[in-house]
Amino acid sequence: MSNHTCDGFVVACIDFRFQGFIKKWLEEKFQNKTYDYVGFAGSTKNLDTIIGQLDISVRLHHVSNVVLIHHEECGAYGAESTHDRHATDLNIAKKTILEKYPDLKVDLYYLHLDGEFEVIE
Ligand SMILES: [Zn+2]
Repeated sequence: MSNHTCDGFVVACIDFRFQGFIKKWLEEKFQNKTYDYVGFAGSTKNLDTIIGQLDISVRLHHVSNVVLIHHEECGAYGAESTHDRHATDLNIAKKTILEKYPDLKVDLYYLHLDGEFEVIE
């Protein structure tokens, strides 16, 4: 088997309106680095599925930096797509990931319609 690793594991929603912003932002964040990318409706909304993808990424590529991106006006959340709900779900995802992989660095972001990446604490 070949030995190939990468730096990041990125999760974002499939929503086409945000892909340009995300691509540009990732080019800056991961300059000269590489990452696995998961596009899934609602990003981490279906957390079990995302953890399954992360398991594979950790095992095969030994990633170190997880980046979770939720966004404003997410259709997968519908009427529940509020800033608070996204912040809550992002933190649940981070907690769950760190329980399984304590050595990973997990960064949370809320992407606004105008392309602004807001850091979620
Ligand atoms: Zn969405």
